[in-house]
Amino acid sequence: MKRQSYTPFIAFLGSVVCAAPVAAQGDDELNVLVVVAHPDDDAMFAATVYKITHTLAGNVDLALITDGSGGFRYAQLAEPIYGLDLTDEKVARQHLPAIRKRELMAGGAIVGVRNYFFLDEYDDAYTENIDSVLTYVWDADEVRERLGAIMMRVAYDYVFVHLPTPNFHAHHKAASILALEAALELPEEQRPVVLGSFVGDSENPQFGPTDFSEHPGYPITRVRADTPPFVFDRTQPLSEDGRLDYQIIVNWLIAEHKSQGTMQLLMNAGDIERFWFFEANDPSALAETREFFEQLATAK
Ligand SMILES: [Zn+2]
Repeated sequence: MKRQSYTPFIAFLGSVVCAAPVAAQGDDELNVLVVVAHPDDDAMFAATVYKITHTLAGNVDLALITDGSGGFRYAQLAEPIYGLDLTDEKVARQHLPAIRKRELMAGGAIVGVRNYFFLDEYDDAYTENIDSVLTYVWDADEVRERLGAIMMRVAYDYVFVHLPTPNFHAHHKAASILALEAALELPEEQRPVVLGSFVGDSENPQFGPTDFSEHPGYPITRVRADTPPFVFDRTQPLSEDGRLDYQIIVNWLIAEHKSQGTMQLLMNAGDIERFWFFEANDPSALAETREFFEQLATAK
C-alpha cells in the first residue's frame, strides 16, 4: 500500500481562494474525482474509492455541490452528540453545513479522499424536478464553471457521479448533469471518463436500477446501450480467511454521518457498486475503463 504523504486540504470554491499546493498532474498517476450533491452521497462509491486509494495507490478528490443544510429531518439522534436542536430547521440551516462537512471528511479519511471542493449551493428540499434545481435553486453556470476549473487543475482519469435515474432526488441528477456538461466542455485531451454509479444487490434485481438508458429530456445522461455496467464487488475479501470485506469499510463511512439517521439503515444494504459508461464519453476510453475495473476486481 502506498503511504500518502500529502495533507488533505479544503478548497472553498466560490468563497475562499484555494491556498493548497497544486496536486500531482502527471498522467502516470490514477486520479479520480467524485462529484456528489450531499455530504453522505459518497457512500454509493465508498468501496471502490477505498480500493483505488488503498490498493491501486490512486488519488481521489471530492466535489460537494450543496451545503447539506437540508438534512435535518432525521438528525434527532445526533442532537446530544452536537448539543444542538438539529431537527429545528433554523438551527439546522445554520449548523449542518459545518457539521456535515466534518462528517464527510471523517468518512473521507477512512476511504482515503485527498482533497475536497465545497461549492455550497443551497440544499433546499426533496424534489425530482431537475429544471427547478438548475433554474431556481442553484447557480448552474457557476457550478459548471467551478467543476470545469477543478477538472482542469488535475488530469482526472475518471469522474464518478450518481446514475441520474428518474425517480431520484433532483439534486443528485442535477449534480451528475452539471459534471457531465463540465467534462464535455474541456479540451479533448483533458476530458475524464464520467461514470454514473448506483448501489446494487447481486441477489436482488429489484435493488437499485438495472435498466437505465437515459433520463427523459436529458440526452447527455444516455449510457451506452451495448455496455453493461462495470461492477465492484463489496464482498471481495480484505482478510485471508475472507471474514473481513469492503462492506465493513462502507459501514464505517455511513456511521460517520451521525446527523443522517436514516442513512444508517443503509448499512449492509447492497453488495455491489455498479458504474455505467455514458455515451458522451470518448468511445476509445472504453477498453481502458474495462481494464480499470478488471484491476479493481483482481488487485490484492
Ligand atoms: Zn443525497
